[in-house]
Amino acid sequence: MERTYVMIKPDGVQRGLIGEIIGRIERRGLKISAMRMNVIDENDAKEHYSEHCEKPFFGSLISYVTSAPSVSMIVEGKDAIKSMRTINGATNPSEAMPGTIRGDFALETGRNVVHASDSVESAEREINIHFKDDETNEYTRIDEEWLY
Ligand code: ADP
Ligand code: MG
Repeated sequence: MERTYVMIKPDGVQRGLIGEIIGRIERRGLKISAMRMNVIDENDAKEHYSEHCEKPFFGSLISYVTSAPSVSMIVEGKDAIKSMRTINGATNPSEAMPGTIRGDFALETGRNVVHASDSVESAEREINIHFKDDETNEYTRIDEEWLY
């Protein structure tokens, strides 16, 4: 099993898409093991997106993700990292397939509603930025014997 970090970005929250997004994750069979709504601290946002610090969009990206509350989650399951990236769709919504979150709900790369970690290393790094160890939860989904 893998775990990944997922964020419903401020545009997703403000547009009332929290339930829609969480519903897609849960229906897929993935398990949400931690969840919190908060305005992300600027330093945490810079750390989270440190790989993009030299990019021209870095400043606007940090303002965007820290501008209003977002929802942070740890999502677990088989191939959770790849599956969540597939559920989210391409970074640029104009290239995202219909049926993906970005393909169904977004038009702009700079307002693309969701984030999910892109590798095992980034997942662990991002989980550690956004969650403390005692914020994770263990439970069994009643459908697990059918999912696996
Ligand atoms: P992803 O979120 O799919 O992993 P990236 O890691 O490439 O995508 O970029 C991180 C985030 O930075 C994107 O989700 C998007 O919000 C923003 N971003 C990326 N490229 C651009 C761009 N060219 N213009 C504006 N914002 C961008
Ligand atoms: Mg990325």
